[in-house]
Amino acid sequence: MEPLERALSAEGLTLSAIPGKGRGLIADKNFFPGDVVICQEPYASSPSKTSTELRCDGCFASAGLKKCSQCRIAWYCGSACQKSEWKLHQLECPALSSLREDRKKMLTPTLRLMIRLVLRRKLQDTGVIPKTATDNYDLVAALASHMSDLDEKQLLLYAQMANLIKMILPSVEVDLREITENFSKLSCNAHSICDDQLRPLGTGLYPVISIINHSCRPNSVLVFEGRIAVVRAMQPIHKGDEILISYIEIAATTETRQEYLKQYFFTCSCLRCIKNPLEELKENAILEGYRCKDHKCIGYLFYEAKEKKFTCQVCGLSRDEYGINRIAKEVSTKRASLASTVNPSEASLLYRNLELLELKLFHPHSINLLRTRETLLKILMELNDWRGALTYCWLTIPVYQRLYQSPHPMLGLQYYTCGKLEWILEQTENALKSFTEAAEILRITHGISTPFMKELFSKLEEARAEDYYKQSA
Ligand SMILES: [Zn+2]
Ligand SMILES: [Zn+2]
Ligand SMILES: [Zn+2]
Ligand SMILES: [Zn+2]
Repeated sequence: MEPLERALSAEGLTLSAIPGKGRGLIADKNFFPGDVVICQEPYASSPSKTSTELRCDGCFASAGLKKCSQCRIAWYCGSACQKSEWKLHQLECPALSSLREDRKKMLTPTLRLMIRLVLRRKLQDTGVIPKTATDNYDLVAALASHMSDLDEKQLLLYAQMANLIKMILPSVEVDLREITENFSKLSCNAHSICDDQLRPLGTGLYPVISIINHSCRPNSVLVFEGRIAVVRAMQPIHKGDEILISYIEIAATTETRQEYLKQYFFTCSCLRCIKNPLEELKENAILEGYRCKDHKCIGYLFYEAKEKKFTCQVCGLSRDEYGINRIAKEVSTKRASLASTVNPSEASLLYRNLELLELKLFHPHSINLLRTRETLLKILMELNDWRGALTYCWLTIPVYQRLYQSPHPMLGLQYYTCGKLEWILEQTENALKSFTEAAEILRITHGISTPFMKELFSKLEEARAEDYYKQSA
C-alpha cells in the first residue's frame, strides 16, 4: 500500500478509480451526519486581497494587522502568525522586497499562491520542513491539470504568469512548463477558503481534498476552520459510497450548474443532473420561470409556442407572451440602473421597487426573486432596519428549503440570521425556534467546538432562559 493509501485507510477511506471521473474517495466505513470524513492543512494558501481589505497571511484575520517591514507585502495579525509563517516568508520576503513598486502591485493572490507553492516544495525538498503522507509535492504532481482542454489564449496567459514566477524567484530552479501546468491545476483544484458564514477569505491548495469529486446533491460538505479544510458528512454515508461535495453554488438550474462546472472540465451526471425531462422542465419553470396569473396559485408555467402563451400546469390559467415580455424588459432596465447605486437608503427603495415588479413576473420560488430579496436583506441590515430585514430573511427560508437539501449550511446560516434579528426585536419565542433550527443544521455541517458554534449555542441558551422566564412570569 502506498503511504497516502495507508493514511486514508486509517481514516476509513479508500482511494479509488471512478469510471468517467478519474480518482475519488470511497468510504470504507459508515459515516453519520456531522462526522468528520477528512481534514487537511493547505499545501499552500494565500489570503484574498482587495483595495479595502487586507488579511493576515497566517490566519486570514483582517483586524489589527501589521505589515512586514521588509517586503511591505505580507501582513500579520500578531507575532504568533508571523512566527508560524516565518520559514516560508524567510524565502519569500527577499524575493518580494526586491520587486519594483509597479511589479508589487501586480502580485495577485494567485501569483502569491504559486510563489508559496514553489517555496514550500523547496522547503520540503531541502528538509527544512518535513514531508508526510498527506503533505508532499507528489500529491500536487498527481493532480489533474486539464492542459489539453485549455485554449491557446489561456495557455499563453499561464505561460506568461510562469515567466513572472521565474523572474520573482531567480534563486529557485523553476521549470517553466511545470509552473504553467501548475497554474492550470490551481484553476481546477484550488479551493476558496471561507469563514464560518461562507464568506471567502482566500485560496488554498489541498491536494487530498481535491481528490473528492463533485455532486449537485452531495453527501458531504467542505467547511474551513481557519485554514484547515474540514469535510463533514451531511447525509448518512455507507461503506462503499463515494464521498461527494459540491464545487459550485447548487441553487441553479441544471443548465446553469453545468455552465459553472465547465471550469472543472467535466459534465456532472448526478441524480439531480439526469432527472427525467419533464421533471427538468418543471424545475426550470420554477427556478427561472414565471408566476401564475392567479397570485394565490404557486403553480409553474409551461410555454405554448403555438398560442404564444404561458400556461399554469396546476390551475390552467394562461399569461400571454407579450405581457410577460413587457414586464421582463422593465425588470432588466431597472436592474441595469441599480448597478450604479451606492447609497444604502436609496438602494433599499430601488430594490423594493424591483422586488414589486419581479413579484408580478417571476415564480415566487425563482432564483431571480431570491437574489433580489437576499440583496434587500443585506441592505436593510446595513441600515439597521431589523424589522424589514427579518421580513426578507423569512421570505428566503422556503426557497432555501427547496434549493438546499437539509442539512445544508446555507439554510442553517439563514435560520441563524432570522434568530439574531428576532432576538434584537425581542421576539424571544421565535428567536428560540430559529436558533434551534440553526443549531440542528450547523452542528452537523460546522461541528460543535468552533468559537462560531459556541457563540450560537450560547445565544440558544440565552433565548431558552429568557423564554422560560417570560413563560413563567
Ligand atoms: Zn493571523
Ligand atoms: Zn516580508
Ligand atoms: Zn449534478
Ligand atoms: Zn395557477
